[in-house]
Amino acid sequence: MNLRTSVILLTLMLISATRSVAAEHDGKLKVLIVTGGHGFEKETFFQVFEQNPEIKFTHAEHGRSNATVYDRADLLDQDVVVLYDMPQSITDAQKEKFLRLFDKGIGLVVLHHAIASYQQWPEYERIIGGRYPEPDSSKPGTVTEQVGWRHDVDVPVVIVTKDHPITAGLKDFTIRDEIYWGLRVQPDVTPLITTTHPKSSKPLAWARTERKSRVVYLQLGHGPSAFNDANYRRLVTQSIRWVAEKPPSATGESPGSKAN
Ligand SMILES: [Zn+2]
Repeated sequence: MNLRTSVILLTLMLISATRSVAAEHDGKLKVLIVTGGHGFEKETFFQVFEQNPEIKFTHAEHGRSNATVYDRADLLDQDVVVLYDMPQSITDAQKEKFLRLFDKGIGLVVLHHAIASYQQWPEYERIIGGRYPEPDSSKPGTVTEQVGWRHDVDVPVVIVTKDHPITAGLKDFTIRDEIYWGLRVQPDVTPLITTTHPKSSKPLAWARTERKSRVVYLQLGHGPSAFNDANYRRLVTQSIRWVAEKPPSATGESPGSKAN
């Protein structure tokens, strides 16, 4: 075999090896989108993900009784789990399966009303970094002066952490969306965006690390006026991209050790 033939053969082998890996993963992040327990405008919501070229997603909805999505066999095969659900019941076995996400380093993006899930499970509040504490758990959605929500508000959004990959390329903007007030927010979160709206809870989005995983909460995202907003889509896309990577503490790398 002469040199030229060898080079051609080697090149062909490399191309086919690269192709088979790309075909297996499609080069895209595997995302599981979880709903159930709260209504939403389906068509425009799913467009946020259908029009994200970086991901390949599966939609899973909980059964009526409890958090059945966590019983799925493919739960731990995901790169990222996105929660847009609001169930209240979860079995001990489902809790254990949920907690395994963070042993595996699977990223978690929690959207909007998913902060009101599992009112009776404190561990969920600790992991996602906050809670919408229902004023009356027997009547979800009750509005009081202390805790509540309001639709169709023009929300001025202020970028707090400008050098974060999730807020990269964003400038302060206004979005028509729902506000919440009375959220409890844990002290260990990194705020990403906030608002000057006097009634709204602050911040509007944050990040934290849970064992080997990254976790993001984004309060925005009630309906089409948010789903169709380019800034909102950018926040969701960049959140998914960011949580898909494991935090440096999980890979044993210290910041700056990459040069070694
Ligand atoms: Zn809502």
